[in-house]
Amino acid sequence: MNRPAIGVDVGGTKVLGVVVDTEGRVLAEKRRPTPTGSPEELCATIDEVVAVLGADDRNRGAPIGVGLPGLVDSNGVLCFSPHLATAQGLDLRTHWPSRWPPARVVNDAAAAARAERAWGAGRGLDDFLFVALGTGIGGALVRDGVVQDGPRGFAGEYGHMVVDPDGEVCPCGGRGCWERYASAAGLERFERVAGGSGEGGGPGVVARARALDEASLGAFGALATWLALGVANLIAALDVSDVVIGGGLAREGDLFVPAAAARLADLLEGASARPPIRWHLAGCGERAGALGAGLVAREGA
Ligand SMILES: [Zn+2]
Repeated sequence: MNRPAIGVDVGGTKVLGVVVDTEGRVLAEKRRPTPTGSPEELCATIDEVVAVLGADDRNRGAPIGVGLPGLVDSNGVLCFSPHLATAQGLDLRTHWPSRWPPARVVNDAAAAARAERAWGAGRGLDDFLFVALGTGIGGALVRDGVVQDGPRGFAGEYGHMVVDPDGEVCPCGGRGCWERYASAAGLERFERVAGGSGEGGGPGVVARARALDEASLGAFGALATWLALGVANLIAALDVSDVVIGGGLAREGDLFVPAAAARLADLLEGASARPPIRWHLAGCGERAGALGAGLVAREGA
């Protein structure tokens, strides 16, 4: 039965909801800006998105999944959320309208990894590392075809591995987290350090790198090195040979993945004795989180 599910991805700037069938086809889509106020406002926005998608008779009663950024525990509570501070402590169960089936809630990168495994670059791969590069870094490990959420749901927080104890301050309250380097935030800073403008956020750096600006290309070179460093550490710990790069920067993969792959050979213990590490660029685009939340919805249905 090709029963649709509703998947909602809550990002820093937008809430994106989709109706997705079992083949990964998007039957409907709705987006709203992420509110900056209280958890109640965020719940109201999610409710609004679900209401639009669920209004169609064919989608009535569809299972619902929600992806949230941060530490989402096994009960779906957002315990810690450095990038969505206003939603800190959000427990959707206490606000969830009774007219909808209960939502299943997971970490947004864990949701996106599910979508990549089912319909994107991870299709046919039973074991891979998923690293989503955007403003920060999201992560997930897929083992035997299954995303490993961890016993409490907190696995895959690779972005907050400390790579420089005296380094950049992170929104999580720590210092020198990997996501302050191998991310859009890192790109802007590297570009400024190299004498460039650092303006316009990640998209600004990308546009200038495409125009062959030296400082911007240098910023991508630095990003590649930091990316390779973190991936080398993760491979040393987890023994994977496939890496799927997702997030907003995946579309610009040609600007840094070849360099990261080359650096990895120097950084990974016994690289020449291992099977080659294969890099893949995500296939589900900006909808990965919402599509994966739809898969999560079905896991509980
Ligand atoms: Zn951090």
